[in-house]
Amino acid sequence: MDFEPYEAAYPPRQLPPGALVTRIGPSPTGKAHVGTALQAVINRALADGSGGAFLLRIEDTDRERFVEGAVEDLLAALDWLGIRPDESVACGGKYGPYVQSERLPIYQAAARRLVESGHAYYCFCTPERLESVRLAQQAAGKPTMYDRHCRNLGSEQVEARLASGEKAVVRLKVPDDTEIAFDDLVRGRIAFESQTIDDGVLLKSDGFPTYHLAVVVDDHLMRVSQIIRGEEWIPSTPKHVLLYQYFGWAMPRIAHTPILRDMSRRKLSKRSGDTSITGYRVQGYLPEGLRNFLTRIVWPHPEGKDVYDHAEFVRLFKPEDLPNTGPIVDPQLLDFINGQYLRRLSPEPLYTATVDYLQFLLDLDQDITFESYHPAAPIKHTLTRSELEAFYGAFSADPAYSERVLMLEPERYKRLSDIVLNTGFFFGALFRPVDPKLLAKPLGSAEQVEALLDEYLKLYQPDVPQAEWEQSVRDLAHQAGVKDGKLFMTLRIAITGREQTPPLFEVLTILGGDEVQRRLELAAAMPVSS
Ligand code: GLU
Ligand code: ZN
Repeated sequence: MDFEPYEAAYPPRQLPPGALVTRIGPSPTGKAHVGTALQAVINRALADGSGGAFLLRIEDTDRERFVEGAVEDLLAALDWLGIRPDESVACGGKYGPYVQSERLPIYQAAARRLVESGHAYYCFCTPERLESVRLAQQAAGKPTMYDRHCRNLGSEQVEARLASGEKAVVRLKVPDDTEIAFDDLVRGRIAFESQTIDDGVLLKSDGFPTYHLAVVVDDHLMRVSQIIRGEEWIPSTPKHVLLYQYFGWAMPRIAHTPILRDMSRRKLSKRSGDTSITGYRVQGYLPEGLRNFLTRIVWPHPEGKDVYDHAEFVRLFKPEDLPNTGPIVDPQLLDFINGQYLRRLSPEPLYTATVDYLQFLLDLDQDITFESYHPAAPIKHTLTRSELEAFYGAFSADPAYSERVLMLEPERYKRLSDIVLNTGFFFGALFRPVDPKLLAKPLGSAEQVEALLDEYLKLYQPDVPQAEWEQSVRDLAHQAGVKDGKLFMTLRIAITGREQTPPLFEVLTILGGDEVQRRLELAAAMPVSS
């Protein structure tokens, strides 16, 4: 089939003047990366800010790199982030299909059109021949490029070889000695000498297009008017420029975002930890927090704010604002921003967010390692699946109680995982006898701890005012000749199992007299050892 009917089937969109049609075209080669989240946030915002449309296209033409489940992961991750495309494989749209592997006839027709107009040609070279050319070029210290062996074959010979079933690819005819340039909204004019550009493959012998052909044909047919993508695609862009020229199509406006970097200023990669969007969800970030963080590192707020309404970004962001050096994915800034969003939640939504988060973790059906940033090495805490399950059971048993726990010191939490890691001691069902060594730490002598706890149990009274309670502890310390700070710490450890907790009196108030009594008795009955 010819290409023209496709062109006619996808007429330009009816949109208000200035409306931008944007897209992302992720390849399903693994779990969706946080860099894809950045592209999605930016492109969604540009479409929203201009009254346009944002579409999601799956670029799955590289079958060798295809990973089962990657599309599902991407859709779930974007959904969690609150980024809903106007058109996609999930929601459909008038310019579909939105999966490249379902569009093969379109690319094949486009490739034929280029061959017919003399802008592309069939190449019959075998992989063995290409390999020996490459090795010879390498040995001579030259750049490895296709040697244009098939560029000038006669058309009769080509027809005959194709008719006989010989395998062929279609290659782009790159002109000699010209400059190929485009205007990047962030970096300005970028020019390439045509000699440095390969006569790259457009259509493979199995009928699948390469990225270059597919992306240009799709951006055109889907009427994309603004491309924002990662800078790793800059070297590909001259090929796209040529294709737009050869097809006679207007090129969309284009901008490249710098690659995200980690704290050691290297490209954010597997080495930097789990950089998948789902990985951030596992660590306990809120979608609003991650989204604010991603916009923050590529866009200076006019008043220098770190935390702002997403609507402000949508209203004010322009592609020209993008930086041209790689933004740092700084976990401390991310924690700070996320903490601000957590703090804004009132008890009920915070409780619900925590329960939803726990359900999400449990659905993963595995042990979870929580990581926080430290310049030397990340600090890690692992909770097993059954520990998570126990926490979930305790936490969800009495929502009103859990909400009181959450409101005790909401500013302590940077992520939902902080709640999971730090509030377990509030739940009787999770409380385990305290480590005797830890219990003996403040006073040094296990016998003294035992004696003091016995004494304290005799005088312990629930529901007394704070000042009275504090005085009773001080009096006891005085009588026994120990520093009162050490006795407070011993009680803290006996009752919570921890050296760090919110103010002890408030903890006692939430736990209630019976539970405090029970824990003190457990500690007092502990075998003496120091
Ligand atoms: N398929 C490319 C990717 O995986 C998309 C590049 C583009 O946006 O043009 O990122
Ligand atoms: Zn060839």
